[in-house]
Amino acid sequence: MVKGMAPRIIPRKEHRISRKQVSPNALRTLYRLHRRGFIAFLVGGCVRDLLLGRTPKDFDIGTNATPGQIKKLFHNCRLIGRRFRLAHIQFEGELLEVSTFRRTFVPSDAESPEETDRDSRLARHHITNEEGMVLVDNLFGTPEEDAMRRDFTINALAYNIADFSIIDYTSGLMDLKERLIRTIGDPRVRFTEDPVRMLRAVRFAASHGFMIEPVAWEVLCELSSAICRVSPARLYEEIQKLFLTGFSGPAFQLMEKSGLILALFPDLSRWFYGDSRRPALLYENLDYIDRLCRSGTPVSPAFFFAALFGPVMEGTVLDRHREGIPRRQALNETCAAIMGEVAKTITVPGRVGGRLRAILALQTFLCRMPPRRAASLAGRPEFLEAVAYLRLIAETKKDLHVFVEWWDAFLREPDSMALLNEATEEAPRKRRRRRRRKPRGPREDAT
Ligand code: ATP
Ligand code: MG
Repeated sequence: MVKGMAPRIIPRKEHRISRKQVSPNALRTLYRLHRRGFIAFLVGGCVRDLLLGRTPKDFDIGTNATPGQIKKLFHNCRLIGRRFRLAHIQFEGELLEVSTFRRTFVPSDAESPEETDRDSRLARHHITNEEGMVLVDNLFGTPEEDAMRRDFTINALAYNIADFSIIDYTSGLMDLKERLIRTIGDPRVRFTEDPVRMLRAVRFAASHGFMIEPVAWEVLCELSSAICRVSPARLYEEIQKLFLTGFSGPAFQLMEKSGLILALFPDLSRWFYGDSRRPALLYENLDYIDRLCRSGTPVSPAFFFAALFGPVMEGTVLDRHREGIPRRQALNETCAAIMGEVAKTITVPGRVGGRLRAILALQTFLCRMPPRRAASLAGRPEFLEAVAYLRLIAETKKDLHVFVEWWDAFLREPDSMALLNEATEEAPRKRRRRRRRKPRGPREDAT
């Protein structure tokens, strides 16, 4: 929307959002704010998802009540965030985020002393680094200003509890219809202010099957290396959202094309382009992960990283083993090197890296027939993930099916399989003939 233009308001009878689709806790919160005279909107991704007929992950509320006023209204409210305070309202099994409308600081063009003074006061609430990345942005604003600081038009729609209308400050409804991801404002400015928006664009394109607006896509490809400026902890969060929601294959494809994979995972990227068969192998793994996620099977970050890095790690381990390095040592060193490279950009918690190594290390034990000490292997904390990984690689290596079948049978009947396993392990020992000791003659020095 051009500044100063009226937003488009779609009355209740002309859109498909019904209050039945909204969580009762969110409705209660909206009504209470509204009754106390505040503006109360559902904002962000939940409005987009409701319009698409999807179940939103969470319901975010925007209001003109200040954090202090929100806290007074809800006894179950906690204020979080040091610079920009947000209210978290905790209900049984549901956490709602209520935020006061915010704005982005834009310096005025005028040069009058008053305006310059006002600008310098406001600028203290909006700090960017030399590259234009926003570091602090904490000014309260109007509902319209709040919409304009959001990332994409489809994420800037609001649902007004006062009259159940939808408010479209940008071209959100049209873009939703055309399945288009369009930045609000110049994509170069918006991706530079916050490079995470590039990952978010990819995520929505992959998960919703939308297209990134061509101009924005071009800029994204050009700026992809700027993703490394984002804090490593935030990148870890984003990577999980990107890859663990059932669309890692299409997301990886867009990231690979745009240069985001090269920027985030240089080792993986080198391996990926090193041999024409590798992309298909990696996409098979990602497709497997996506099928698990979509069927509701939880996928741990360690298992996901094993699927992503397993092929490159196994290849390196094999090469080093052929050079004479013991397999275990080669695996430890390869994991440390590759995860060390990743850690330069993304904070992958140490326990996730350790678990990933353990999943790969257990494969040698799982691929023995008959397996040794099955019950004790099953007691290892990484055992289930290791079997899941074996199932995953067996998708492309058919000769591993026999091991998968054995362990699946074990998982169905752990007790009987453990007994059987012990019996097969014991058998050779029982058959071993004990050598009879030669009777010792009396020692010469015996008295
Ligand atoms: P999801 O369904 O994955 O939760 P979402 O769009 O709701 O998607 P959230 O991370 O929950 O994503 O963010 C809520 C809203 O906050 C977004 O819809 C968007 O309007 C705004 N937002 C989030 N991150 C950014 C960002 N980096 N820049 C601008 N606006 C953002
Ligand atoms: Mg959300």
